[in-house]
Amino acid sequence: MIDKKPPFFSLIVPAYNEQEVLPVSHKRLSRILGICQSDKLISGYEIVYVDDGSKDGTLTVLRKIFAEDDHVRIIELRRNFGLQGALSAGLSCAKGDVAVTIDADLQDPPEKIPEMVQRYLEGFDLVLGVRIDRSTDTPFKRITAQMYYKLLKCLGVNVVEQHGDFRLMARPLIDEYNNLHERNRFMRALILELDDHYAVVTYKREARTLGESKFNFSKMLSFSIDGVVSFTYAPLRFVSILGLLMCLLALAGIGWIIYCKIWGIVIPGWTSTVLPIFIFSGIQTLILGLVGEYIGRLYTEAKQRPLFSIRHEERH
Ligand code: UDP
Ligand code: MG
Repeated sequence: MIDKKPPFFSLIVPAYNEQEVLPVSHKRLSRILGICQSDKLISGYEIVYVDDGSKDGTLTVLRKIFAEDDHVRIIELRRNFGLQGALSAGLSCAKGDVAVTIDADLQDPPEKIPEMVQRYLEGFDLVLGVRIDRSTDTPFKRITAQMYYKLLKCLGVNVVEQHGDFRLMARPLIDEYNNLHERNRFMRALILELDDHYAVVTYKREARTLGESKFNFSKMLSFSIDGVVSFTYAPLRFVSILGLLMCLLALAGIGWIIYCKIWGIVIPGWTSTVLPIFIFSGIQTLILGLVGEYIGRLYTEAKQRPLFSIRHEERH
């Protein structure tokens, strides 16, 4: 059922301190998109680089690329808004009938783009890149990622395992995404809330050859908490049930103490008094923290701060 015309194509590339990577990546990207165009798979294309408040020479490198290539656009953000902010900025500016988001380091191979466009032409508005082989990632990243996807599924969050941010979206879906109001964006799950009729393109994740990962442990942790808390109330439910069980336990304890008093049994040393205080205050603190996570989310949503802010845009 190929009845769609070759689309005008936007490639969105977020870049945060990627000066080493960009010249090499740009060559590879423009070669592939050039082939797509001459094969009439796409009618034309733009490459939208989003500079996510880089501190190194990323912007200078991008300006050089811009000067040499008419297909390039640069979106310069006012500060570092994080990957999800940069992707959102790119999607809000994209002119294409379809847009693909891809990491600047090209660990997700752009050679898969033609296959993604094919799936679009076959009628899919959403095409997800799925990593079937992550042997190039560190064991720590691989294992934590795997456990995390499992946890999300367990909690009832709809995610596609091993799908990151390499995906194709068609114009109607892009428009819907741009109209969303929420601030906490965990795109890989959010996008499935908009459309769960999708195609999958599989690939082997490559190693990063230049520069280093921009996701340190704390960034990864906060990203992971976002994924859970923005999409499911399951932890709150779990905590309520736990709270209820603890109350029942306390009631049983009171009953036991009364029983002991009546029958004149000597209550053993202070351990039995102090230990529960420690345990319960620990659990209570945990619960308070968890409730705080949700309140924090409500707070950021209530403020309605901009998801990104563009300083300047360069286009031909
Ligand atoms: N990135 C970004 N803003 C950030 C962190 C990362 O735009 O605050 C971009 C980065 O430049 C890259 C992509 O997000 O294009 C993925 O980052 P990276 O390759 O460091 O992540 P990893 O592959 O290690 O998960
Ligand atoms: Mg990477």
